[in-house]
Amino acid sequence: MTETSNSLKGRHVLVTGAARGIGAAISRSLAAQGASLSLMGRKRDALQQLADSLPGQHAVVVADVADAESVNAAFAKARAALGPVAILVNNAGQAESAPFHKTSLQLWQQMLGVNLTGTFLCAQAALPDMLQAKWGRIINIASTAGQKGYPYVSAYVAAKHGVVGLTRSLALEVAKKGVTVNAVCPGYTETDILRESIANVVAKTGRSEQEAMAEFAAGNPQGRIVQPEEVADAVRWLCGDAAGSINGQSISVSGGEVM
Ligand code: NAP
Repeated sequence: MTETSNSLKGRHVLVTGAARGIGAAISRSLAAQGASLSLMGRKRDALQQLADSLPGQHAVVVADVADAESVNAAFAKARAALGPVAILVNNAGQAESAPFHKTSLQLWQQMLGVNLTGTFLCAQAALPDMLQAKWGRIINIASTAGQKGYPYVSAYVAAKHGVVGLTRSLALEVAKKGVTVNAVCPGYTETDILRESIANVVAKTGRSEQEAMAEFAAGNPQGRIVQPEEVADAVRWLCGDAAGSINGQSISVSGGEVM
């Protein structure tokens, strides 16, 4: 049995959608473990503000994850700043709702573009560094929407099921190469995505904010909304050497909503 460590000292971690919500919680958690982070997103100021608040040395890289050129340029900058990427956290995402018959091709493509193609592009950009090092972690923030269906979000659900499928396939391709690929699947989590969903329910149904929030919480068997730090802790665990046998999994952080 070899000795394993959960310290991330010396590891370069690239987190997409790092500026707020779950991405910011993941960044804070991994920086506390000693990781050097490349914080990726579309808004430089918000990313820089986060970088300035973290212990250690970090880089800010601006990119739209759905755009191949923008992703490749950002990875080049991240490597120039902090060296080869050891861990990729594909967290950037958007969740827009619409009944299926009102789901436009534009909305469909946007949900697939950010949530699924973004995950594909960043994984392709990061993997060569991991194969070269014979060590790596790819952690995809999917959703319980990658594990079960929900009404009125078919494009998002399709994209997140795609992320789970990509996770399983890639996990098998790299299984003998020191790299693991896993998905973390949060239930409703207290971030801007949830706040926007609640505002949407209030606008469309006339229910109060409290009623809408209670409805989202009721989907979780624990009757509550997940906190971003709980998702971040699952990611932190997957990053460590001790999680080396966990591969191709979709870990539901949802109080038992999926089992
Ligand atoms: P959030 O607070 O809205 O944050 C989303 C992040 O993604 C932001 O930092 C945003 O950055 C970034 N982003 C969005 N589009 C992007 C693009 N095209 N390119 C680069 N970055 C982009 O939402 P969150 O709840 O933390 O979501 C994080 C992940 O968790 C998403 O994948 C989401 O699907 C998943 N998730 C969330 C919940 C939930 O209930 N909150 C549940 C399950 C799964 P900028 O806008 O600054 O670019």
